Amino acid sequence: MDTSALHFDNRFLHELPGDAEAGSRRREVLGAAWSQVMPTPVVAPRLLAHSPEVATMLGIDEATVQAPDFARVFGGNALYAGMQPWAANYGGHQFGQWAGQLGDGRAISLGELLADGRRWELQLKGAGPTPYSRGADGRAVLRSSIREFLCSEAMHHLGVPTTRALSLVATGETVVRDMFYDGHARGEPGAVVCRVAPSFIRFGSFELPAARGDLALLQRLVDFCIDRDFPHLQPGPSRRADWFAEICMRTATMVAQWMRVGFVHGVMNTDNMSVLGLTIDYGPYGWVEDYDPDWTPNTTDAQGRRYRFGTQMQVAYWNLVRLAQAVSPLFDEAAPLQAGLDAFQARFAAEDRGHLLAKLGLGAYREGDEVLMAQFRKLLHEGEMDMTLAFRALADVDPHQPDAGVLEEAFYSPGRRARVMPDLLDWLQRHAARVRDAGLPAGERRRIMRAANPKYVLRNWLAQEAIDRAEQGDAAGIAELLAVMRRPCEEQPGREAFARRRPEWARERAGCSMLSCSS
Ligand code: AMP
Ligand code: MG
Repeated sequence: MDTSALHFDNRFLHELPGDAEAGSRRREVLGAAWSQVMPTPVVAPRLLAHSPEVATMLGIDEATVQAPDFARVFGGNALYAGMQPWAANYGGHQFGQWAGQLGDGRAISLGELLADGRRWELQLKGAGPTPYSRGADGRAVLRSSIREFLCSEAMHHLGVPTTRALSLVATGETVVRDMFYDGHARGEPGAVVCRVAPSFIRFGSFELPAARGDLALLQRLVDFCIDRDFPHLQPGPSRRADWFAEICMRTATMVAQWMRVGFVHGVMNTDNMSVLGLTIDYGPYGWVEDYDPDWTPNTTDAQGRRYRFGTQMQVAYWNLVRLAQAVSPLFDEAAPLQAGLDAFQARFAAEDRGHLLAKLGLGAYREGDEVLMAQFRKLLHEGEMDMTLAFRALADVDPHQPDAGVLEEAFYSPGRRARVMPDLLDWLQRHAARVRDAGLPAGERRRIMRAANPKYVLRNWLAQEAIDRAEQGDAAGIAELLAVMRRPCEEQPGREAFARRRPEWARERAGCSMLSCSS
């Protein structure tokens, strides 16, 4: 295809104030939402993987993906007509502390593409320094890029709101990282991911002008965000309140989905919270395996465990309060903001309840169902059971003759299995009675339960296997994994190995049970 037919309008640049200086000199950028900066070319851009669905969504055909220009554009060495690269300016609260200006330190947006009536911002991650890179190099390593590429797509196919990923390009360059910040720096292969979303505006985008007392920029940013990203909101006196409430509700929906599938974001700083309620900035994320609400994959957060699995809802609320405070100068009173925060609670409770009913196959809600769920989660924890396998197996328990046979695969330790078995059998009896009472036809119930309880999730060790292979020069494991993750809730005969519980070798292996912010 002729790529000059791709239509970019780049509203972010045209409607918001920009930095007078171009280039990557590190600096505080005042009064501006973006800085013009070019990606830094790389030695040998090579396409390692792409998402065919995202390419199609963007109106980019397969021949264009395979043409040499594609790896050059999405590795940072060339531009398609209409692209106007920029880095966005924002701040954020990191691990509970106000961190000041952060900005896109290694992300560079190429433009906003209009395709099929929809707007998609294309953004390179790892494309070189920007004014916001502070002391760092603007690059990304292959391992974290594979993780971001695969997880973006896996989450989408699970039904979790997320930014998407178009491409993964190897740079042919080495990036030096000290993975656990313990004096063991080494060179690793570099890569660039192109991620895609209708908007990359974050809570921190508003926090920065608010913290600086720049109310003019704050107001322009809010009005721009509403106009561009929430055009369905009716003009009128309550428009900003409706906007805030929608952000709250979208965030609630996202976090409820994380809890459904066992996803731990790992770095829920306010600069990593999307106004569209999209999962964004895949870093040291992880998937709960042996169930533990206190688990976080992020060793950088090992002390406080601020971003552990079980409290993601509370953290999201805390982050929304930061956003409410940031935009409060634009509101005459606090009530509409409080109403938005209340809507978060209500939406989360409603969605979580819906997930509970589907995951357990219960039909219409009855009092006490939360208790049944809480007891099951407690058993998973005490029995050291794999969250994904255990929930998935529930659909196969016969409600007329419940037994724990189908749950065998979920246990990590025989000792824990033995300890929890009597209580588990008791729970299965009570669950079966509740299921019989609900009276859903068996086929229908199983269909609902399987749709809510994925068989295939992007387990940390699966991603690590694809990473190990890719670092040895074999990128095929990335596409294989992507193919499996495209249909997470379906049985995929021959691919059972991708649904296995974590093997012993991965228990303490870096990248599998332990990750850090170093990426
Ligand atoms: P993150 O924890 O990945 O969301 O990153 C927090 C901040 O650090 C953001 O402003 C990033 O752009 C910036 N950052 C992270 N890694 C790099 C890097 N290698 N080079 C430049 N900036 C970075
Ligand atoms: Mg970030």
